Amino acid sequence: MNALLLRLVDTSTFGVLLCNSVGQIFYMNAALRDMLGYSLARAESRELHWEHLTPPGYELVDQHAIAELHQTGRCAAYEKAYLSSDNSHVPVMVGASVVGQDETGDYIIAAYVTDLRPLKQTQAQAEAATLRVLHLQRVTAALANALTVDQVVGTIIAQVLRSFDAAACSVRRVSDDGLYLEELASVGYTPALAAMWHRISIDASLLVTAAVRRKQTLVVYSVAELRASYPDLLDTAEEHGYRVFAAVPLLREGKATGVIGIAFTDERLIDDQDIALLEAIGQQCEQALERARLYSAEQAARAEAAELLAQIDTVVGKAPIGMGFVDTDFRFVWVNEVLAGLNQLPVADHVGLLARDGFPDYVGLWEDYWRQVLDTGMPIVDLELSAVMHGEVFHALVSYYPVRLADGSIRGIGIVVLNITERRRNEQNQRLLARASAVLSESLDYEATLAAVTGLIVPEFADYCAVNLVEGDIVRTVALRHRDQTRMPLLEQLYSGTASLEHSRLPISSVLREGRPLLVDDLQPVVDHLPYTDQQRQLIRALNATSALVVPLIVRDTVLGAITFVYSDSTRHYTQDDLTLAEELARRCAQTLENVQLYHNEQNAVRLRDAFLSIAAHELRTPLTSLYGNAQMFQRRIAQTAVLPERDAHTLDVVVSQAARLNQMIGSVLDVSRLQHGQLAITRALFDLRGLVAQVAAEIQPMLHNHTLHVDLPEQPLMISGDELRLEQVVANLVQNGVKYTPSGGVVHLQCQLQGQHALISVADTGMGIPPEALPQLFQRFYRAPNALASNISGLGIGLYVVREIIQLHGGTITVESEEGVGTTFFIQLPLQ
Ligand code: ADP
Repeated sequence: MNALLLRLVDTSTFGVLLCNSVGQIFYMNAALRDMLGYSLARAESRELHWEHLTPPGYELVDQHAIAELHQTGRCAAYEKAYLSSDNSHVPVMVGASVVGQDETGDYIIAAYVTDLRPLKQTQAQAEAATLRVLHLQRVTAALANALTVDQVVGTIIAQVLRSFDAAACSVRRVSDDGLYLEELASVGYTPALAAMWHRISIDASLLVTAAVRRKQTLVVYSVAELRASYPDLLDTAEEHGYRVFAAVPLLREGKATGVIGIAFTDERLIDDQDIALLEAIGQQCEQALERARLYSAEQAARAEAAELLAQIDTVVGKAPIGMGFVDTDFRFVWVNEVLAGLNQLPVADHVGLLARDGFPDYVGLWEDYWRQVLDTGMPIVDLELSAVMHGEVFHALVSYYPVRLADGSIRGIGIVVLNITERRRNEQNQRLLARASAVLSESLDYEATLAAVTGLIVPEFADYCAVNLVEGDIVRTVALRHRDQTRMPLLEQLYSGTASLEHSRLPISSVLREGRPLLVDDLQPVVDHLPYTDQQRQLIRALNATSALVVPLIVRDTVLGAITFVYSDSTRHYTQDDLTLAEELARRCAQTLENVQLYHNEQNAVRLRDAFLSIAAHELRTPLTSLYGNAQMFQRRIAQTAVLPERDAHTLDVVVSQAARLNQMIGSVLDVSRLQHGQLAITRALFDLRGLVAQVAAEIQPMLHNHTLHVDLPEQPLMISGDELRLEQVVANLVQNGVKYTPSGGVVHLQCQLQGQHALISVADTGMGIPPEALPQLFQRFYRAPNALASNISGLGIGLYVVREIIQLHGGTITVESEEGVGTTFFIQLPLQ
């Protein structure tokens, strides 16, 4: 490959590797070697293999890429990772294409690799590269004034001694017959040494001869290595105190034409970067020598440029990355198909076109940057640029780098464009959907929620947007938003009034009727053909709508409404991708609408239930009170006269006690209804809580046949200010629950005591207990724990609800501790008077 082309590829900012169809690698450019930590020698050793470079987990994406490569001859850039030489993962963006065939007919595949490691690493690399470029620039600048062979060689030696702080340096050329190395110049060797090495047989076991023979940069660090490989050099090294030697062959078209020899008296490490720099200097040196040998530097340069372009075309013309080259006037010299595609201009039309004339709208994307590259001679790497191009938002990672000729002068700017629109759009879409989900779950007021959704859509995904809902046969607008507040009146006018769904021919009505989305990418030419009224048409014109998207809000085959997205005053247009996103957003909105509806339905059902219970309880109360009162009266009379047989007297007792139970239940239901309407009031009076607890216990005690009730009372009265009847209800309820949920033979322990400024009542039982998951809901009205339901113990689930409300009205608290199968304790704390 032409040397200049190699340099173009080799100094390019993206990695390039060449491999055969089974993934055996035989070339990596400097960027890729730097990225993965491989030396030139290793990269070209043919021992590296695509698969070995790939950490586990990327087989699938690789397979896809390989399949695409087989089918189309190229594969689009995708993300993966490589293993570097130290086995660490390097995240990269890779694209590849088939660029030719080797002599055996096997495919040559070129892969284009962009390093995606965090900025820091990129910066560190950029700094190292900058230093290298600076050294190189120094060499280049110095060589610019060197015209003769002597001047070139003298300059190179001076620069090497300076850049590397070396002890001695020589430049030698291979004699015309190829048998000797002849010294062109040397600095730092003793005259004796210089004389001895003035002309060296190419077969001598010295480092410089080996480098020429192997056409490879060689470095020797140790005496042992010298002894083993370069015995001819051993004595000299010991005599002059040289510790490290390096030899860089001067290569031209695959042949070694000479060598730079360097000797250091200190121990040092020559790393890959140093070697790369030395080799670049070697290249500069070789080219300067070549130039000095040629008659006309300009002629040579022209020939090279022509050849370069021809080769670029074959090697990178079909890369999946946009690439191009402009001269210093910013005139396109060459672009590949991808870049031409991005620019929507054929490759041939680019040639000779001034960028400013061809793409006046996008000057901001390149002009200042290109000028900067020309001014500083430094590349600009991985610039993230966004623009609206041909109606679509386009995001790219762009690099601009100087392309130099052999004499070091900048001939133009290399352009590399990696299209990351898809990736960015996905990120943006994900962000929108995440934010929408958050907004949608925030409130149960659907109008406010839909208004908030329009806030997410405008301005990023639309210039204006509307949400319509179907109510019966009517289409109603529930949310409207325009990025420009001053246009809101126009928008409101457009959406004012209601349309009959059945008869309207408006586009939105057809979306609502058919439940299918509508995408009009270019609205202006079709406005006249859409079934708008003249006034609507005028408003759409005034709003300058350019592209529109209408998606239905559907839940289980029912169309609830639609969201309309519109771009106005803009060059943006909706695409199929936008439609997919809008449909997903609509799906989530519709879901929320349904949830809100379900919630309201449930609320209505609850209201209905409460109203029914309240009415029923009121209506039952009167006959029941009369029944209960009469039964009690009858019972008292029988007790006095004893005219009934014992069996009938017992039946009467049952009637009275069941009427009492029913009375209590209806009382509870009425309490709930009063609480709902804020009508449960307490009347406070000072009384002794100890007395109250004792009385409740005394009343319940005689009714217990299978349970034991223990009562613990304090020695002193506990005076509190409260509603005695209501608190009696509380204590009785808890004790009755204790008995109800405790199997026969169990114990209920009622305790009342003084605790600081409070009275503490506890009711502990040895019953079935309450499952932990039921505890948080225990005081909700109508809630019953699953174990109570399962045991068929009757109840309404409202006692505890009323109890807690009463306690709270007294400024107290109620808490519960329970273990399933062991027992339950309720604690009530009431402030003392
Ligand atoms: P009801 O007892 O009529 O169901 P409550 O409001 O008094 O209603 O109690 C609500 C629920 O709390 C009961 O259904 C029961 O699951 C649970 N519960 C109340 N007290 C106890 C207790 N002492 N032991 C076990 N579970 C109880």
